[in-house]
Amino acid sequence: MGSEPKVTYVTLSADSEDARAGFNAGIARVQREYDQTMPLFINGRARNTRKTTASTSPLDTSVIVGHASDAAPADMADAIAAAEAAFPSWRQTPWSRRAELLGDVAKRIRDERFYLSSLIIAEMGKSRTEALGEVEETADLITYYNDRMTLANGFVHPMDSLSPQDRNTSVMRPYGVWAVISPWNFPCALLGAPVAAALLTGNTVVAKPSSETPIIAAALMRLFQAAGLPDGVLNFITGSGRMVGDAVVKDPRVAGATFTGSYEVGFHQLFKQFSVTYPRPCIVEMGGKNPALVMDSADLDKAVAGVYRSAFGMNGHKCSACSRVYVHEAVADAFVERLLAKVRATEIGNPLERDVFVGSLATKQSLNDYLTYSQSARNAGALIEGGVQLQDGPFAKGLFVRPTVMRGLPEDHELVRQELFVPMLHIQTVRSFAEAMQMANNTTLGLTAGCFSQNQKELEAFFEDIEAGVVYVNRAAGATTGAWPGVQPFGGWKGSGSTGKNIGGLYSLSCYLREQSRTVVE
Ligand code: NAD
Repeated sequence: MGSEPKVTYVTLSADSEDARAGFNAGIARVQREYDQTMPLFINGRARNTRKTTASTSPLDTSVIVGHASDAAPADMADAIAAAEAAFPSWRQTPWSRRAELLGDVAKRIRDERFYLSSLIIAEMGKSRTEALGEVEETADLITYYNDRMTLANGFVHPMDSLSPQDRNTSVMRPYGVWAVISPWNFPCALLGAPVAAALLTGNTVVAKPSSETPIIAAALMRLFQAAGLPDGVLNFITGSGRMVGDAVVKDPRVAGATFTGSYEVGFHQLFKQFSVTYPRPCIVEMGGKNPALVMDSADLDKAVAGVYRSAFGMNGHKCSACSRVYVHEAVADAFVERLLAKVRATEIGNPLERDVFVGSLATKQSLNDYLTYSQSARNAGALIEGGVQLQDGPFAKGLFVRPTVMRGLPEDHELVRQELFVPMLHIQTVRSFAEAMQMANNTTLGLTAGCFSQNQKELEAFFEDIEAGVVYVNRAAGATTGAWPGVQPFGGWKGSGSTGKNIGGLYSLSCYLREQSRTVVE
């Protein structure tokens, strides 16, 4: 199995013989483990709670993937206390030892990739290719961070001197207890990567996953623990986001936080509340309303392929999903016709059974959103494809829908302005590149963007003026999606992110560190 090429977000299918065998074993194990209860993990010990919440599968909502433990405020307080107590010795542990432990975590993730991806499929309905890609990405993010730490020599740098007696050093040091709050759409990578970054840099962690995907999160956290982290260094809490968010905001022992999720929660409920007595670092990675520009000189084969993959891959559940297309009037009808043909041919199915392009929606809320938005587009006369739930035969018990295309809504319509996070794409015809750019940037969010054009001047202007943290040109593998650690560092501008530094990039680790300038006079 080891000789197979790595599955990434630009891989077209994970359907080799080895992958099929791996998934058969992974899915069988996940199904054997259905209904299990996942405890909290505090100060090196598993802790069961009085209350639990069932996590059901979106592929068949009668299946309980597992039960998550509902943490009470006292559990959260214990987790913070354990992380605080573990901090002094963890920060003094040589960074090379911390990297060694995390390297072991990455290895365990790779070894368990079919089990973890099967769990992602069961709990949130991703396709096999997307799920395996996410697990590989989680391991690669950890390895990449280890490499950056090594290249930076643990962020200890000799500095200049103003006199022969001075010895000056810049040392980047951890903050303390770091909270990590993660979303459901990348339940493995967006929990594992910030946890690894915080731990590697010497912080101790209290981690809280989305209440929609607690079982995959717990399985991942077990692999971190299995690598032999000292007690209290990593604590794992499941339960109410509001309760955890409250504690993170109010407890002065929490020194920093990484939140990945919606703009509404991340900016309004966390970032704006987080600094009370003095500023505390708060990394918030939030949503997108990502545009693709298709100009009159565009290679339409590439544009159709790239937009289709980014709008409908993983059912539009990517923060980087393409949700708006601005297409030049000279090619608009041809583009729409070819895109619709591809949309109509979309293969939807149960990824537990075989590799398909899309599985189910991930959550019941997503289904409600999809149906509400579709009706709104229909009422506005803008729905040109999709807008239907699949309820027959193999789809009867799951959350399956058709990819949906809208055209010609006014730019101030809420479906054009707000992040929808379901497989719905809006197409607007424009008269010029300038008009497309103006509309593309007219949003509070600024995560990803794409442009299809053969005109060099337009491409230069696109790079110069587009307000987004991850941008692609003429990319058939994904107009706006498919970033990979160490290849396309991932993060947002404006309302999409707070640091201006991307995940899986050159500057990620420095977000978890504070500088101390040391001068010794001899
Ligand atoms: P969400 O904001 O609803 O929840 C995110 C996390 O916050 C969950 O763990 C949730 O339990 C927790 N939470 C809820 N209330 C809280 C509070 N008051 N204080 C603190 N935490 C609280 O987001 P979601 O629906 O899980 O995820 C989808 C969103 O995430 C989309 O907007 C998507 O674009 C975004 N996202 C962004 C990135 C990125 O890298 N920029 C990546 C993935 C997802």
